[in-house]
Amino acid sequence: MATEQDNLLKKVIAHAKEYGFIFPSSEIYDGLSAVYDYGQNGVELKNNIKEYWWKFMTQLHDNIVGIDAAIFMHPTIWKASGHVDAFNDPMIDNKDSKKRYRADVLVEDAIAKTEEKIDKEVEKAAKRFGESFDRAMFLKTNVRVLEYQKKMDEANDRLKNAMTNNDMAALKQLIIDLEINDPVSGTKNWTEVRQFNLMFSTEMGSIADDANKIYLRPETAQGIFVNFLNVQKTGRMKIPFGIAQIGKAFRNEIVARQFIFRMREFEQMEMQFFIKPGTEMEWYEHWKQARMNWHQALGLGYDNYRFHDHLNLAHYANAACDIQFRFPMGFKELEGIHSRTDFDLKSHEKYSGKKLQYFDSESNQSYVPFVVETSVGLDRMFLSILSNSYKEEKISTAAGEEGNERVVLSVPPALAPYKMAVLPLVKKDGLDEKAKSVLEQLKTKFRCYYEEKDTIGRRYRRMDAIGTPYCITIDHETFNDQSVTVRDRDTMKQERVLISELVEKYSHICSINGLLERASTNYWLSKK
Ligand code: ATP
Repeated sequence: MATEQDNLLKKVIAHAKEYGFIFPSSEIYDGLSAVYDYGQNGVELKNNIKEYWWKFMTQLHDNIVGIDAAIFMHPTIWKASGHVDAFNDPMIDNKDSKKRYRADVLVEDAIAKTEEKIDKEVEKAAKRFGESFDRAMFLKTNVRVLEYQKKMDEANDRLKNAMTNNDMAALKQLIIDLEINDPVSGTKNWTEVRQFNLMFSTEMGSIADDANKIYLRPETAQGIFVNFLNVQKTGRMKIPFGIAQIGKAFRNEIVARQFIFRMREFEQMEMQFFIKPGTEMEWYEHWKQARMNWHQALGLGYDNYRFHDHLNLAHYANAACDIQFRFPMGFKELEGIHSRTDFDLKSHEKYSGKKLQYFDSESNQSYVPFVVETSVGLDRMFLSILSNSYKEEKISTAAGEEGNERVVLSVPPALAPYKMAVLPLVKKDGLDEKAKSVLEQLKTKFRCYYEEKDTIGRRYRRMDAIGTPYCITIDHETFNDQSVTVRDRDTMKQERVLISELVEKYSHICSINGLLERASTNYWLSKK
């Protein structure tokens, strides 16, 4: 049976297609699995998210600069980074459903289910004991909770060991011991677990030969590492400093479902922050908070974000966590924050034979800097905003509103594809000409939509569906007092505003600068 969450995701997918946000790739050829195209509204929203991130990094921080490295890179880079040998996911097939899964994700999901059982016990007890309920004590003493916790800890330990030791047989045994069923066939008829490298490869030049084999980058970070000295020297950067980049990455994901959450071609917004060895924990904490502020400033809901520490650290990290978001499928990774030590730069020194060191003029010493990375998926950001802002609402008989329900995308105004719709009430009596002259005045300040067909109510509905925050209606009154009706997308309230005051009144709320101001204050901490 489909859950409410499944339904929400399905509705969001259908809405995204119907209103020009996201189309399946190559649709007339029946699509290409886990690849999507952004449509006329999607590209605007996506560009606005990029701008928000880019300006936050490179404008609010005078010690961070950006680059745009090529997707193709020297193949040895992926040897040095560990991707050729270790960028694998363990996969397992169910022989009955013929479906393929990530073995570690099956285990993680089973652990999460046990965690949910604990939450339920706590909820039940909290209801039973009322005000006198002591959560911490309950977690420490309740027999059932302790049993669940033990089961979780054991499974986590075994998962960690199997992954670190590359022990696929142990992972398979864990799946058997946890009695994990295939969610599709319901059976436990599993194949062995096998490692699968996620990198796409192709040949460079005209001869197909192993020597010409190159990879499509699976992350943007390496383009930053190999340019570290170029940027540091030409930009006269002093440690601590950061390099930011937005770009495409490619991964041949084993399980590519869940819409744009897991794609084979996607975009990352990554920043590598170069620091003095020994200061990494301080900077790691700093970036955790700064990134959480950036997310929270969007106003999608304080409780929709949480930190999740990594138990299984990647080969390059000495601390790592995710910022998770409450997607329709539950809390899932949106961004990763990783303390990458000096792993990457040292490894590139070894493989390239070139020194990648920073000369510290204060201590008169050269060293390989440590790195703290923040890495957020642009498409996952897009999904978090789209799914959070999709709302079906009943409408009371508010003036000028048609029908009794609507679908509205309450995206943050600064990110909306259009900020304003300019609508003549009717296409006669010179209202359309007047509306076009208002459009001329507004269009250098805001991205505006102009429409004169249909009733005003239907036009409001279409603007709600693509998230336009303000609809400006030009009516007969406009000729008398040079004012227009401004209708607010979220409250559906209308007010009269002078044409000459529109820019001043709506500029701040519709601009990325407004978001940046919120993100640069300790918004998140102040809510805690
Ligand atoms: P996951 O565990 O979900 O596979 P990851 O830990 O491998 O993700 P990272 O390598 O840390 O992801 O990549 C940084 C960010 O890039 C992720 O937080 C996510 O937002 C995004 N990302 C990673 N893989 C994909 C993908 N296949 N499709 C869309 N976004 C992705």
